Amino acid sequence: MEVNKSIKCSIENCKYNYPSEDYCTLSQIKIGTHEANPTVIECTDCESFELK
Ligand code: SF4
Repeated sequence: MEVNKSIKCSIENCKYNYPSEDYCTLSQIKIGTHEANPTVIECTDCESFELK
């Protein structure tokens, strides 16, 4: 797995995470929301997440 220096991420439970460097290894990710009207950072989700 190679890190994507354009996507920093610290979610170590994700199978696409490169934990020693805090980067994602995907070439692109999709961000979405679980809220009808997102207003704060907690409303946003990485929809490319997959459990390791
Ligand atoms: S897919 Fe999303 S949650 Fe997983 S390492 Fe990449 S940015 Fe982080």
